[in-house]
Amino acid sequence: MCLSSFRWFRSVSSSDDPHSYIHGVLERGDHGPYRHIQFDLRTLNDAIQKDAERIARSIEADVKNAVAGNRDEEVTIQNHLGNVTFKCLVSTPHNLSELVQIIGKAKRENQSVKAIGGFYAFSPVCETTGYAIKTDHLVGTSPTPAATLKDPARAEGLYDVLCGTSLQKVVEVLEKDGRALLNLGGFAGQSSIGATATGTHGSGLTVPPLASMILGINLISGQFDTSSGLPVQYRIEPTNGITNPKSHPPSWVLIQDDREFNAAMTGLGAMGVIYSTTITTVPFYWVRELREMVDWPTAKGLLEQGAQGDILKYHNAEVWINPYTSKVLLTRREKLTTPPAGELAGPNSHMFTAITKDLSALHAVVDHIFSDPVIDLEGLLGIILALLLRLFPLLLPAALDLALQTQDHVQPKVAKYYDIYEIGLADNFPAISTEISYPMTSYLSAADATISLLQKLRKQDIHQAVVSPVSLRFTASTPANLSMSYSTNPSQSSGRCYLELPSLFYFYKSVQVYDAISKPHTEESVNMYQGRMHWGQYITPSFTTLQYQPHDPEFYASITSFKEVAEKFDPGHMMANAFLRKVIWLETGN
Ligand SMILES: Cc1cc2nc3c(=O)[nH]c(=O)nc-3n(C[C@H](O)[C@H](O)[C@H](O)COP(=O)(O)OP(=O)(O)OC[C@H]3O[C@@H](n4cnc5c(N)ncnc54)[C@H](O)[C@@H]3O)c2cc1C
Repeated sequence: MCLSSFRWFRSVSSSDDPHSYIHGVLERGDHGPYRHIQFDLRTLNDAIQKDAERIARSIEADVKNAVAGNRDEEVTIQNHLGNVTFKCLVSTPHNLSELVQIIGKAKRENQSVKAIGGFYAFSPVCETTGYAIKTDHLVGTSPTPAATLKDPARAEGLYDVLCGTSLQKVVEVLEKDGRALLNLGGFAGQSSIGATATGTHGSGLTVPPLASMILGINLISGQFDTSSGLPVQYRIEPTNGITNPKSHPPSWVLIQDDREFNAAMTGLGAMGVIYSTTITTVPFYWVRELREMVDWPTAKGLLEQGAQGDILKYHNAEVWINPYTSKVLLTRREKLTTPPAGELAGPNSHMFTAITKDLSALHAVVDHIFSDPVIDLEGLLGIILALLLRLFPLLLPAALDLALQTQDHVQPKVAKYYDIYEIGLADNFPAISTEISYPMTSYLSAADATISLLQKLRKQDIHQAVVSPVSLRFTASTPANLSMSYSTNPSQSSGRCYLELPSLFYFYKSVQVYDAISKPHTEESVNMYQGRMHWGQYITPSFTTLQYQPHDPEFYASITSFKEVAEKFDPGHMMANAFLRKVIWLETGN
């Protein structure tokens, strides 16, 4: 609803609490003037409870649509969120031989190939009109055999991980051996390759993105042996790679070359299907988390202190900003390498899970929509929360403050590393997000510009808003060509800051409403602040990497280098899809 269509109430003050606002919207179907409505969760709960039946009627059709999904034929597949849907041939190999055979078959049939990991990416990176190779059965994590290494003593802490293994499963296996991953993002449901192929990262200025744990890559390429008709298999490592060429199995062509390795680490599947990787791990660790609510000017002052300042000096640092009120939750984390004394905290609970727990009146809304008991109640509450905010969008700013407060804890929290890093958001709260990385020299200006843009858009149209705090995270740089943290000289680089715009998906009537936020944000970020788009998050359809050429020549040159290497491994572009052809290969006509 546009601001211009708001009806001005005679008595503005009477509509300034959630009771009268909710009642007013249900009675008259409008929101009154643009304003901030303050409340606590108890008042909101009472207001929902009072009008539960009418709220239920207003959102019933959308809830039922969301729960039913809109999957049709078997050959039409859809990512988790449901914003990427396409028709294709699906293959689910169970082992290396089946994987190699299906790629050979695709070649004979002149079909393209795209591997699918967890299928979580919001961008159309998995899309294909040919074979979608689901890697769900290519799973397993095992210690790397010492016999193949140049230095067998280096085998400790090295693991071979099959491509479809979820990060969660890798973490579980490692813990049994007293080992851990260097870092995790806010979610561990991705497959090991799906995550690293798009540049997935956690937070901490000294911690590079997850692909930095890879030491060797076993790739089934888009090159074919002319006699067998089967794809050529490569083992790709850095120049000083770990494998002893003399004890290396001949079925895999060994390449030890930094340039090719840097292209393959984060490759969007453009060089072929990665069967497995060898990763390095660290001894198991715990994390001590401290949190503090401040306002954005205070947070900015602390961030301006730089890498040794009171936020960025921590092993992990995150800054969550409510763009509509300027309230900020600071997270500072230290790594503990010895077992902490005392009881450990359990897994983190996401802010929206915490909110829905406190809003028991949402159950009354559910009861008015469904007469039978609901199977996935938590998932349903996530959808209802988003639809409730769509129905009463003036509640959003204060609701986000309350959401941030659920995550604040004055007492330090100590837990296993994965319980701290994973924020617990997944299918229960269908969410979409765009994420952009910036140099450390421009990220604060970019964050200010983002906050201004978000406030402006919401004032123009009350539904052009993000239903979640904006987050800032940080990483060290990496030589991986396509990584959003790429640097020609990682050890000298000051790292990158990632700004994410997550939002509950069902707040929007269509993905185009989110795009109306993401697109101008992308344009401004790339053109003015040297922003780089996260490949596995939502990317506005008009974006191509050509936009980096004038504003970020370092990254553009790196992408060009990537393409030269990818061309060698997939000369016929059979591993490309419409997204890669347009965005990376810059082909026109898609
Ligand atoms: C709830 C949630 C939380 C998230 N949190 C974070 C976060 O904290 N930090 C962050 O950086 N990102 C985050 N993301 C983004 C996420 O990490 C990326 O979208 C990631 O790519 C998803 O992994 P996936 O296994 O689902 O990959 P998919 O979506 O299945 O695939 C992604 C890409 O990898 C390719 N690929 C997959 N397997 C192979 C293979 N075997 N060989 C070659 N190519 C392959 C695919 O072809 C595709 O190009 C989050 C996403 C969600 C849904």
